[in-house]
Amino acid sequence: METILNIRNLSKTYQGGGHTLHVLNDINFSVEAGSTMSIVGPSGSGKTTLLGLCAGLDRASDGAVELNNIRLNELSEDERAQVRNRYVGFIFQNFQLLPTLTALENVMVPLELRGEKNIRPRAIELLDKVGLADRVHHYPMQLSGGEQQRVSLARAFSNNPRILFADEPTGNLDAETSDKVIKLLFELNKEAGTTLVIVTHNLELAAQTKRIIKIKGGHLVSDDSN
Ligand code: ADP
Repeated sequence: METILNIRNLSKTYQGGGHTLHVLNDINFSVEAGSTMSIVGPSGSGKTTLLGLCAGLDRASDGAVELNNIRLNELSEDERAQVRNRYVGFIFQNFQLLPTLTALENVMVPLELRGEKNIRPRAIELLDKVGLADRVHHYPMQLSGGEQQRVSLARAFSNNPRILFADEPTGNLDAETSDKVIKLLFELNKEAGTTLVIVTHNLELAAQTKRIIKIKGGHLVSDDSN
């Protein structure tokens, strides 16, 4: 089996107010390509920090992060951005759409960054897939929370990521919309073989992934297969 993500002795500290905050301590796990996994645990336990390190959004204080056999620690910020653009999709709890761009333009951004051609039809197709064919020219402000989250899904899918990280993808959504978003995520896993790594408080969602790891006080305290 192929390993897509390998985390070794990972630690993260922040300096502040004259002391060191140990947010993550000696975390170890690896993720099989094509698998699905949830990261659960209490608020403030370090889940978002861990996801950001795995995705190369941030840099570890100690230990190693290998994504698709690329060691992220040694890379510059620009090089990490290139790795993300090639292999990674990321879904933020608060969507993080660009407010001055339409839904369509938001989805086109990663495609433009990759220098792809014919990006407009591809972006329209992606928005159609998430059920937003009639919202392509809307600005984020004109969309509901669920619609914004679906635009952010279309954006995250646009580079055919090998691995998709989602931080509380249903955190701001009602039950019905949250079901739609979950369905789209698992479809992507089934159809494209995209690995899913999801931080969630939603136990129903966690139960649908093959594996659940639990973080508490910056430590990995359990690792279970469903
Ligand atoms: P969770 O996602 O489990 O709620 P987080 O990873 O968001 O936890 O945060 C873990 C801890 O790290 C919290 O105590 C938080 O205050 C702290 N933290 C997160 N980001 C920073 C930062 N940029 N600077 C200092 N402390 C931070």
